[in-house]
Amino acid sequence: MTQTTLTLNDGRKMPQLGFGLWQVPAGITEETVVSGLRAGYRLVDGAAIYGNEEGQGAGVRASGLPRDAVFVTTKIWNSEQGYDKALRAAEASLTRLGLPFVDLLLIHWPTPARDLYLETWKALIAAREAGLCRSIGVSNFQEPQLERIIGETGVVPVLNQVEINPRLQQPALRAFHERRGIVTQSWTPLGQGRSFAAPAVVAAARRAGKSPAQVILRWHLQIGASVIPRSTRAEGLAENLDLFDFALSAEEMAAIAALDEGQRCGPDPANFNMG
Ligand code: NAD
Repeated sequence: MTQTTLTLNDGRKMPQLGFGLWQVPAGITEETVVSGLRAGYRLVDGAAIYGNEEGQGAGVRASGLPRDAVFVTTKIWNSEQGYDKALRAAEASLTRLGLPFVDLLLIHWPTPARDLYLETWKALIAAREAGLCRSIGVSNFQEPQLERIIGETGVVPVLNQVEINPRLQQPALRAFHERRGIVTQSWTPLGQGRSFAAPAVVAAARRAGKSPAQVILRWHLQIGASVIPRSTRAEGLAENLDLFDFALSAEEMAAIAALDEGQRCGPDPANFNMG
């Protein structure tokens, strides 16, 4: 099994596949991270709002892997937007993680009603210069918001972490990312199981001898996205990592592309301002 790596627009490298920690209870986060890393994952996606950064950092430390072998992501929560607040929030995340830096720091949501995402983006640029993080990016941003932060600062986010699954493929946003050298990272990549029984997925799974979840995760990899499924079960973690010994054909990719309905599982970033 050879995991694939993406090169970010700042020259750094990132594993294409990782695992996510949303809704992982704080009490089992450390052991989940240790089992994920021992199984072979090298990217752990967390966030301040997940309430489990202590376990995320403890798991990275307890894994026995060198710090440079693991790619750690965290995110600035909505209530912490603004220049000074975001810098303080980044420092607080590092304290909770017990790590001197994260590999990737993201703005969790643009929360357009606040209109603070540009100031927050400037804080992330400063955080990177101060060594709090190695790369900076965003999450749930739409094209005009990306244009604005790039236009005002000249700094292009390395990635935009957005909801992508077979029923919500966001082709226009992904094409924009490609033009600007921004990696698409897919959250809720399995789409709450809503495409597991789709004939295109079932047929590819049968042909490849894989599960529907593996077919969908492989589809994410083949569209060039980074993908961060979540599982707290050892078998689920192992299943979602076992994606590198098969490939979907052009026909299978096209059949999955045809499942797009533009339907979200999660909130619409245009009017999500919680926090
Ligand atoms: P996911 O698509 O990874 O699905 C997780 C669910 O699918 C869980 O119920 C899990 O038990 C089940 N599952 C996992 N592997 C399976 C398999 N092989 N077969 C059948 N079922 C399986 O969804 P998610 O947790 O919503 O998203 C993944 C990660 O993305 C999160 O943990 C988080 O890190 C990130 N995320 C980010 C945002 C954001 O706003 N930036 C929002 C949501 C999630």
